[in-house]
Amino acid sequence: MQSSAQGIKQVFYRKKRYFVYLIAAIVLLGFPFITINGTHIFLLSFDHGELHLLGTRFNMQELYLMPFLLILLFVGIFFLTTLAGRMWCGWACPQTIFRVIYRDLLQTTIFGLRKKISNKQQPMNLESFANKLKAVLAFVIIAFLCLIAAANLMWFFVPPEDFFTYIANPSEHPVLMVFWLGFGIFFILDIAFIQENFCIYICPYCRVQSVLYDNDTLMPTYNYNRGGFVYDKHGTKIDQKLKFIDPNAECIECEQCVKVCPTHIDIRKGMQLECINCLECVDACTSVMDKLNKSSLVSWTSPTAMEQNQKVRYFRFRTIAYIVVLSVVFITLLVVSGKKEGMLLNVNTTSELYKIHTQEVVDNTFRVVFHNTDSVDHEFCVEILNPNIDSDIASRLEIIKPKDPFLVKAGQKRTEMVTIRAKENLSKNDKSDSIYPIVLRSFALDNKEQIFAKRKTNFTYPSQETIHTYLQKREEARR
Ligand code: SF4
Ligand code: SF4
Repeated sequence: MQSSAQGIKQVFYRKKRYFVYLIAAIVLLGFPFITINGTHIFLLSFDHGELHLLGTRFNMQELYLMPFLLILLFVGIFFLTTLAGRMWCGWACPQTIFRVIYRDLLQTTIFGLRKKISNKQQPMNLESFANKLKAVLAFVIIAFLCLIAAANLMWFFVPPEDFFTYIANPSEHPVLMVFWLGFGIFFILDIAFIQENFCIYICPYCRVQSVLYDNDTLMPTYNYNRGGFVYDKHGTKIDQKLKFIDPNAECIECEQCVKVCPTHIDIRKGMQLECINCLECVDACTSVMDKLNKSSLVSWTSPTAMEQNQKVRYFRFRTIAYIVVLSVVFITLLVVSGKKEGMLLNVNTTSELYKIHTQEVVDNTFRVVFHNTDSVDHEFCVEILNPNIDSDIASRLEIIKPKDPFLVKAGQKRTEMVTIRAKENLSKNDKSDSIYPIVLRSFALDNKEQIFAKRKTNFTYPSQETIHTYLQKREEARR
């Protein structure tokens, strides 16, 4: 038996939800503005071709992290749904938060267009002109908030500092404006007109949840052992009063759990796809039963726990398997992101394979793109390394261009023609060219150990016959 304790719990559930809404709103609104050395917590910028993750900046060429993030996202959703049903929907989804703000806060609590938030089936009272005006005002406020929400969504793709600059010149940034206003209008239509039909008919998450549930999943559950059956096994409501069928049935058929439901379902029928796990029905029945000095007939538990009067089994094969997969992917993500190169290097050969100067002096020129992916400017150098410990090729070559370090601004690319010269005759064969694997290493002068990149390529030395023929032709041309 629970009396006043249940009363406190009922208020506490709702308060808990509102508290989570507040935290979610602060996190979502605040995150785009937080930067670590100029890098965002999360930003997928198509504009700059960058992914920012937890203060680390990745170039689009480094999007090998994306599959890990997507696996984390999807497995995380599967895990949460198996564990606690549509908890996301009721507790953190912006759709639900905005519906609560619009219906419960603006229309009901502030403007009094509905009598109470515990009856969501009641239509608005729009008979008087004053009420019509209030309804328009509520709509204007929610429309304004929807535009902020749409901007908030955009900030994860266009950082706020760019966003505000761009919208100051809308004619120069039509794509941004179309996306922002498009999302804004969709949000307004959704919150004001589509309402919970979005959760029931449109949201893809609703469709997949049924395959993720099991009998140990946490969900609002009606205790038919105590309350009595209200529906038959075909889902048809039993007409007679419960007391007539089962004199011990505790459900008093007040229908408070039905009236309060934002998706207009009766939880006594069992688990339904439409349930968004908001727990309003739990609160409602707790409140009713509290007055009778009984515990709630609808509680946040699992069907198995309810039937067997046990605690919910959180740890079972499926949830443990998800935890293992999530841990492995998360650790892999940390390891892979920790191996991020401080810069990017792209080495391409030019159309001229080599340039012969004399019998011993031969150059190879490469077109090298240096990409400073760091958030600060750096001066870069380039050097030659041996490809393996058995090779001494690096000591037999020298870089003759560029000789001096060169500046690459933060986030910028710079293309340099890198010319490598053989210090001696490297020909191994009279008839065919000799190819030497080499490694080009570029590094930032001010942070040689952390900001560097290596790329393998080949140095090609012409055959003796090629050199001889070339020099002979050049001599003849001179004469
Ligand atoms: S059945 Fe209960 S938890 Fe589910 S949507 Fe309705 S009120 Fe919310
Ligand atoms: S609120 Fe509780 S008592 Fe009232 S109809 Fe629902 S389950 Fe029955």
